[in-house]
Amino acid sequence: MSNMEHDRWSRVKGRLRTSVGEDVYSSWFARMDLEAIQQESVHLSVPTRFLKSWIQTHYSDKVLTCWQAEIPEVNRIEVTVRSPMRAATPAAKDAAAPAEHRREEQRAAPELRSTNATAPAASNHDALGGSPLDPRLTFASFVVGRSNTLAHAAAKQVAEGRRGDPVMFNPLYIHSGVGLGKTHLLQAVTWAGNSGTERKVLYLTAEKFMYGFVAALKTQTSLAFKEALRGIDVLVIDDLQFLQGKTTQAEFCHTLNALIDAGRQVVVAADRPPSDLESLDERVRSRLAGGLVVEMATLGEDLRLGILKSRVVAARAHHASFDVPQPVLEYLARTITHNGRDLEGAINRLLAHSKLNNQPVTLEMAEHEVRDLIRPQEPKRIKIEDIQRVVARQYNVSRSDLLSSRRTANVVRPRQVAMYLAKTLTLRSLPEIGRRFGGRDHTTVLHAVRKIEGLVSKDTTLNDEVESLKRQLQE
Ligand code: ADP
Ligand code: MG
Repeated sequence: MSNMEHDRWSRVKGRLRTSVGEDVYSSWFARMDLEAIQQESVHLSVPTRFLKSWIQTHYSDKVLTCWQAEIPEVNRIEVTVRSPMRAATPAAKDAAAPAEHRREEQRAAPELRSTNATAPAASNHDALGGSPLDPRLTFASFVVGRSNTLAHAAAKQVAEGRRGDPVMFNPLYIHSGVGLGKTHLLQAVTWAGNSGTERKVLYLTAEKFMYGFVAALKTQTSLAFKEALRGIDVLVIDDLQFLQGKTTQAEFCHTLNALIDAGRQVVVAADRPPSDLESLDERVRSRLAGGLVVEMATLGEDLRLGILKSRVVAARAHHASFDVPQPVLEYLARTITHNGRDLEGAINRLLAHSKLNNQPVTLEMAEHEVRDLIRPQEPKRIKIEDIQRVVARQYNVSRSDLLSSRRTANVVRPRQVAMYLAKTLTLRSLPEIGRRFGGRDHTTVLHAVRKIEGLVSKDTTLNDEVESLKRQLQE
């Protein structure tokens, strides 16, 4: 793409974003690429057939208008599906690589997770076929910890239900941040439900649900589609936050009501609680909130360690010589705090690295391989009491000395240092700090802050003391 085309494309995307709003833009257009501009037509590409179809049915006019504002002669927009395969990385030769590659795909397209890459194109037109399931996502591989006990128990209960059993909580609504195990749990319900009992469990992403309707409406079979949907015992819908559009929502609402009223189980996952699904109709929201709503919290360190271990065990099934020493597992569990997908990615990398280089996994290798998965720690919230305590200890005075009205040099300086640290390390205001230092005026605090600021640049001893105090507080 030339620079000029690149700029044009950026401007068109900007217009599109303004015209449809941030949410819609990021759901549907974030992965749209410009392929070519040819006189009167513009060629765009998207990664899935679903996106293509959705954009063509709902947004083709908008996209065209945004292009015409840039190049008035354009009168046609062509959207094609680009191949999901990227250039193979060196690691792709290893058995661990496909998973790694898929992980990156998933990262890049959270909204397409279940419909792309793994979905054979042929199944796309089979609107009722359900979204592809990952055979690894079962109850057996799901690690239970404090943050997901309730969600796990509820999911298990749903999965073990029999046809005709009274439904205990309907719908079951599970929500959490990304990568905390929603899809895993939902697919586990689907596997378990379909294997153990005579019931029929259908797993659909919200997109698949919508795509089903788009396709079914086109082929005039929407009635059959709806009937088929209603014929199942458990409907599992993942990533509900992507359900969009008035018609789809109305259909979703009907389906939900019909299933629930018929005593069928509905299980839903989303990245937010029902009340925050802003684009959803109020009736749907309250229906969703009327069952059991369970939140899964962030993964605790124990749970992270458990997940890492289970991943290593799984990898060893194919790579018997692969091993990750306990200290490395502990290091990973301590430092990769954010989500389950990164934990999986870390193990995949260690596997790829140790296989390719034929080396055992060491702490050093792990530190190097996963450095980009480690997010900077949230800055620690420092309390004024901590500052007073640490300063008092360093200067060998008591905390009450710092708060007192004594003005001898041995307490004045530590007190000023403490106020300075309170101002620079917390978000407290000057008056608030004054209050916390024995009810002093904010001008006194300001004076102290300026005084120490001035001194640290000249007095290296004081500077060292202040730096050491900061370190102690930030540890
Ligand atoms: P979400 O759907 O909430 O974004 P996923 O279910 O896709 O998250 O989980 C992301 C990754 O983390 C998956 O590889 C999943 O297997 C793993 N994972 C998350 N929670 C657990 C858990 N409790 N036990 C085992 N694996 C987990
Ligand atoms: Mg998910």
